Amino acid sequence: MDKDQSRGESTTGISEWKQRPPYRVHEPNEKFDVKYEANCHCGRVKYQLNRREPLDSKLCHCTTCQTQHAAPFQWAAIFHKEDINFANGHHDLEWYDPTEKSIAHKLPCKVRCAFCHSPIMDEGRNMILLFPSLIHLRTDADRAFFKPRCHMFYGQRVMDVPDGLPKWAGLSGESELIEDSPPELVREFERRREEERNRRFEKGENVK
Ligand SMILES: [Zn+2]
Ligand SMILES: [Zn+2]
Repeated sequence: MDKDQSRGESTTGISEWKQRPPYRVHEPNEKFDVKYEANCHCGRVKYQLNRREPLDSKLCHCTTCQTQHAAPFQWAAIFHKEDINFANGHHDLEWYDPTEKSIAHKLPCKVRCAFCHSPIMDEGRNMILLFPSLIHLRTDADRAFFKPRCHMFYGQRVMDVPDGLPKWAGLSGESELIEDSPPELVREFERRREEERNRRFEKGENVK
């Protein structure tokens, strides 16, 4: 399984990727101004960021994100590959290429902790998409920088999020915008649906 990934301690040969961003570990004498710290669930993978404000922050409702994150949608913040420094565990990463459904390190790919399998980032050709849920955002100002700015692939959503943000049917900036459903209507619709569900439950119609 580790043939192409060559996780081990080596940084040369087929492990040469460790010498390039976003995986290159900065030397202590290099100036890497730490603005944030982050870690996976088990703590083996730890990284730092030297940029305070992400280039973008989005919620993605595409079915690939739903499956990969086992969640109704995914929250990602975009950074340059030079903005990240792995403080620990860059030997403990695993890759997944969702296009070819293979574990090769082929861009764009998903990057996870090889131990707890927390998603760490999506590595694109030029940028990385980090998952803010892993980043320690300590102040309101930090949280404001990471606040999502739009929804994408909203056409594939499993739930409405009437938060006033722009909602792209597909890729942001390259697809149709979907109008927000008015919050009162969503609330009314959900209450009716819940009442209907309770009625079916009381009548035993939900069990076949
Ligand atoms: Zn982990
Ligand atoms: Zn997605």
